[in-house]
Amino acid sequence: MKRRIILLGPPGSGKGTLAARLQQEFGLNHVSSGHLLRREVERGSVIGQSVKVFLEKGELVPDRSMLRFMGEWIKSAPVNEGFLLDGFPRTMSQARALDEWLAARNAPIEAVILYDCDLKLILDRITGRWSCSKCGRVYHIYSVPPKAAGLCEDCLGALTQRADDRETVVRKRFEIYKRQTKPLAKYYEQQGKLTVVDAALSPDERFAKSAAALN
Ligand code: AMP
Repeated sequence: MKRRIILLGPPGSGKGTLAARLQQEFGLNHVSSGHLLRREVERGSVIGQSVKVFLEKGELVPDRSMLRFMGEWIKSAPVNEGFLLDGFPRTMSQARALDEWLAARNAPIEAVILYDCDLKLILDRITGRWSCSKCGRVYHIYSVPPKAAGLCEDCLGALTQRADDRETVVRKRFEIYKRQTKPLAKYYEQQGKLTVVDAALSPDERFAKSAAALN
């Protein structure tokens, strides 16, 4: 089975859900650059303070900082045990740098899975997502609506949206994805590593197609 894998796709396409399941079923180490960055922001570290504004606005952290940050991560990562990279690379310079880092360790990327979808699907999924400010329970205005609008059924806490889940920010993140990240598909296709999965499929179908691509 292929063990060094990149997951590509716009925010909200279902990469996170796929990664969690691949991690659970195949024991692959899930590495989310967004999660690593949010952790630095929470810690208030130097890098965290410098990237906070980009995360809030839904913009990409500049390549220079991102390459330094992920370059550090990869130095100590157990690349031979495999990993699922989710959220990195997002630009051509990041993709080339990653290939160089991994070539130096004789551990190249083996497969790239792209979750392909349009803006409408993303907007329906992400902008409808609300969570309780007290207990964290997640609702969706269409698929899992709360009984009383704006209130958590469990604890009556107020429902709020993540700052980068608001519609204008989601539209912007999708545009950035289309312009900067989607071209990576061609790069990996030329390397013969790309599998495209329709993100509108059910989670089970998406998982089955993704798992098949790794075997
Ligand atoms: P995510 O959770 O993957 O949607 O990432 C959340 C935010 O972290 C993004 O909107 C960017 O601000 C930042 N980020 C994560 N990964 C990268 C990356 N590879 N390059 C630049 N910025 C990133």
